[in-house]
Amino acid sequence: MSLANLRTHYTSQINPEELGDQKVTVAGWVHEVRDLGGICFVVLRDREGRTQVTMVKKKTEPELLEKARKLVRESVVSITGTVKPEAKAPNGYELIPEEITILNEADSPLPMDTTGKVEAELDTRLDARFIDLRRERTTAIFRIRHEVLRAVRSFLTENGFIEATSPKVVATATEGGTSLFPITYFDREAFLNQSPQLFKQILMSGGLDRVFEIGPIFRAEEHDTRRHLNEATSIDIEASFCDHFDVMEILENMVAYIYEQVIANAADSLAAIGVELKVPVLPFKRVTYDEAIDIVNASSEEKLNWGDDLGTVAEHTIGEHVFRETGESHYFIIDWPTAIKPFYAMPYEDNPILSKGFDMMHRTMELSSGAQRIHIPELLVSRIESQGLDPEGFEFYLKAFRYGMPPHAGWGIGCERLVMTMLGVENIRDVVLFPRDRRRLSP
Ligand code: ATP
Ligand code: MG
Repeated sequence: MSLANLRTHYTSQINPEELGDQKVTVAGWVHEVRDLGGICFVVLRDREGRTQVTMVKKKTEPELLEKARKLVRESVVSITGTVKPEAKAPNGYELIPEEITILNEADSPLPMDTTGKVEAELDTRLDARFIDLRRERTTAIFRIRHEVLRAVRSFLTENGFIEATSPKVVATATEGGTSLFPITYFDREAFLNQSPQLFKQILMSGGLDRVFEIGPIFRAEEHDTRRHLNEATSIDIEASFCDHFDVMEILENMVAYIYEQVIANAADSLAAIGVELKVPVLPFKRVTYDEAIDIVNASSEEKLNWGDDLGTVAEHTIGEHVFRETGESHYFIIDWPTAIKPFYAMPYEDNPILSKGFDMMHRTMELSSGAQRIHIPELLVSRIESQGLDPEGFEFYLKAFRYGMPPHAGWGIGCERLVMTMLGVENIRDVVLFPRDRRRLSP
């Protein structure tokens, strides 16, 4: 048998009105075998759905029937048969088999249940991700993640952005030295990159004008939370001749577009997860850092001083406050103290205590950080020094600012946080195929 003969259709592609009484071949996993005395059902599952294979004992060749009854759950099979319309079966048809080919028999017991009847622990599921992915809900999450990234690419391309990729093995820290993974690079020490920040800025000096990157970022964060990974996927943009407000508008438009696209293209997956999405209303509310501090201090949860960073509790307090006021989950926090934003964030010319940095928030967590960047080399050097970093280590970066760097702005948004907040998923590990955290380095 040539492999091309193993499958003529996905289970969902078989329209009984068109293909009734015709021969088709489906291929996939044995989801279930039900032997009911006079009749035996095999449910075959592929990526797109399920097919019920029906064998009435009296009308089925004994050899074929025996083979069907002995099928081990989750084995891979190819089944050729005739399509019969059947309103009660999945997709409105059943298959009367002629040939069942076992391509690979599964061991038993399985590492976890695939039917969704028994809910496995997250760790068990991640250890056996290949089996977990056979569950409808898990597949649905990754289909939606695909739609999100597809929407990002098409939105940014439509808006004049060029996709770029930057190195992940680097010599310097972008976001400060505490959360770096050191690696050995031949006989030197190097690091896994925390962000494409410095490279996308260099591309602005190169005149690419608008770039985006979708790629991994590595953070050696020690803490074990539901919203941090040690390897995450960042969606980053940088745009020349733009200020922070220009790129905030691009960001909120992109988020709304992504929601629209997921609703339009992944309705089945949303239904499988039980999520009803609503497109966020534009424009997102802008809360200043000063207002954010006041909101926190007016609550009984926590007291903050001006200049403090906003922690998890503060983020929740502000998120709930905005949600009560607007009914919306997304908002911006703007006008942050320069001292608590990265060195490359531009201070306001008339009030350098405040920066043109912003965060885009979801009710439950930070989704994105961005800023108009400093494009003046002297100012950049002094900001690097005032954050306790050594400008010498940044020479490759600073050089790009001395020969014609346009004013520019940009942001980075975590792909996983975007997907988890969209779907109301509790743990970030659920929206990464193979998460990396403090304990998990395999699979
Ligand atoms: P947080 O304060 O929530 O840890 P951050 O301010 O350190 O985030 P940034 O450096 O601003 O993160 O990165 C931009 C975006 O990248 C974040 O808003 C988030 O969506 C995503 N991101 C950053 N670090 C992680 C991580 N460890 N795990 C998952 N996503 C991350
Ligand atoms: Mg941030």
